[in-house]
Amino acid sequence: MALKIHQFACLSDNYGYLCWDEATGRTACIDTPDADAVLRELEKLGRGLDLIMNTHWHPDHAGGNEAVKAATGAYIVGPAEVRKIAPLDHAVEDGEIVELGATRFEVMDTGGHTAGHITYYDADDGVAFVGDTLFALGCGRVFEGTHQQMWTSLSRLAVLPDATQVFCAHEYTASNARFALSVDDDPALKQRAEQVFAARERGEWTVPTTIGLEKATNPFLRAPKLAARMGLTNPQPYEAFGAVRAAKDVFKG
Ligand code: ZN
Ligand code: FE
Repeated sequence: MALKIHQFACLSDNYGYLCWDEATGRTACIDTPDADAVLRELEKLGRGLDLIMNTHWHPDHAGGNEAVKAATGAYIVGPAEVRKIAPLDHAVEDGEIVELGATRFEVMDTGGHTAGHITYYDADDGVAFVGDTLFALGCGRVFEGTHQQMWTSLSRLAVLPDATQVFCAHEYTASNARFALSVDDDPALKQRAEQVFAARERGEWTVPTTIGLEKATNPFLRAPKLAARMGLTNPQPYEAFGAVRAAKDVFKG
């Protein structure tokens, strides 16, 4: 793998990511959930920072931009919506390529959680930084978009190769698993949920996940298969997704 990734936990349940292109040493952070944590991890690794890559405007993703840029001089790319709360040097669009040395990230519009949410996909390394769009056994709340838009975004991710590693921004997997078991009794889900509960008991991380694992067990990606259980007859796929999302929004688990 030409891209190296360093994952760290911060805030109450966020994951931050530093990554660097092995060929050139150029280094990026995906989002700035906590400036102090980002700078501390850089120091630990003995690395400077060239690039900040934001996925969306929420404060636990862009809130550290100003302080991290001030400390490192990093250039900031992300969706234009980041400017609502934080500095941004270049607003990227769907299909644009963000280069980190020899590593190329394709910008994918994955709006729905926020209107402008994007994913950074590095096909050569099989890596996707998905922010708050897709989670292990879950997906982001649909705050600014529609169920149809979020379903379209999740469907774009679902057609990436099964082995693609999915780096999401939160450790929500145990509560996602409790919800998933309330709407789906698939054996693969039950088995995975047991593994997730045991891993969290041991204090282990359940992120990254993979596209293949999510397609097999994530109730949001499996929504069309769960439609009958959700009380729907012949829904559009996005309507089935909407029913699962609405159930999760009120789930008390
Ligand atoms: Zn968010
Ligand atoms: Fe978040």
